[in-house]
Amino acid sequence: VPIRPENKNRYPKDWDAISRTIRERAGNKCEECGVPNYSIRDGAKIVLTVAHLDHTPENCDPQNLKAWCQRCHNRYDAPMRRQGIQGRARAQRACGDLFVDGE
Ligand SMILES: [Zn+2]
Repeated sequence: VPIRPENKNRYPKDWDAISRTIRERAGNKCEECGVPNYSIRDGAKIVLTVAHLDHTPENCDPQNLKAWCQRCHNRYDAPMRRQGIQGRARAQRACGDLFVDGE
């Protein structure tokens, strides 16, 4: 999952090293489904990503971090992403309402 620009500065400067440590802890396999890093599944290359269980980039406690393949990471993040999209849509609607009121 790409890091959104507004969240980028919430990650610690040594995030690269931290995420590498977590992937090494996982033996370079997904900690959920066990797929090896850089293997091919369904024609797509597996690249392990490091997820924050509490969705808080500042919380880099190893207990809060999981090395997951894209599929497991997406599955975990999906409910929150849906909320985020709804939140943004609401914000846009609210903005649109303001403009309508102002005319
Ligand atoms: Zn997985």
